[in-house]
Amino acid sequence: MKIIFATGNKNKLLEIQSIMDGMGYDIITAHDAGIDTDPEENGESFEENALIKARAVYELSDRSAIVMSDDSGLCIDALGGEQGLLGIHSARFMGHDTSYDIKNKEILKRLVGVQDKDRAARFVCAVAAILPSGREIVVREAMEGFISHETAGANGFGYDPVFYLPEFGKTSAEISPEAKNLISHRGKALRHMRAVLAEADI
Ligand code: IMP
Repeated sequence: MKIIFATGNKNKLLEIQSIMDGMGYDIITAHDAGIDTDPEENGESFEENALIKARAVYELSDRSAIVMSDDSGLCIDALGGEQGLLGIHSARFMGHDTSYDIKNKEILKRLVGVQDKDRAARFVCAVAAILPSGREIVVREAMEGFISHETAGANGFGYDPVFYLPEFGKTSAEISPEAKNLISHRGKALRHMRAVLAEADI
C-alpha cells in the first residue's frame, strides 16, 4: 500500500521513509501522486492544521492509499505558547519570506531580560493520517527545551539555533541529525503514528 505524504519537503519525506521502513509501505509525496493542493492552514491547533492538509489531499486521491501530513511549530511560553506569536503560527511569524536568522534574532530580542526559568519552550508536531476507509487518526508529540540567550549551531533548520536542550547543554542546531531524530517532536510523532498504524485495521 502507498502512503501519500502531504509535503513538498524532501527532508520530511526522507525522515518518514526511514521511520516507516520495514512496514511495507511505498511512501510518496502528494506532488508525486499527481496531487497539488495548498489549503489555508487556518485551524486552531496543530492537530486541526495537520488534518486540513491531509483532508485536502484525501479528497483529491483515489482513496486507495493512506494520506498523511504533519504540522509543527515552536511554542514559547513567554510569547503566548501554542496560540501565541509563534506556536501554530510559527511558519508565518514575521512573514514567510523573512530569513530564520532574522526571526531567531527577533525572538532573542523579545526575551531580553527574561530569566532562564521563564524561557521554557517546546517544539510540537501533530501527524494526521486518513485511511482509505476515511478513518482519521491524529497523534501529537513534543520536544521540551528553553530559548537560549544567543544563536548557536549550524545543523537543523528553522528555529533550531535558539532552541536549547538542557540534557545536551547545546541547541538543537548543535547536535547531530541522528541525535535530533531520536528526541525530536517529528521523530516521536512519526514513530507514534507507525505504532498506531501497525495495530490498525487498514
Ligand atoms: P510546518 O512545516 O508548516 O509544519 O511549519 C513548521 C514551522 O516550525 C516552521 O517555521 C519551521 O521552521 C518550524 N519548525 C518545525 N520543526 C522544526 C525543527 O525541528 N527545527 C526548527 N524549526 C522547526
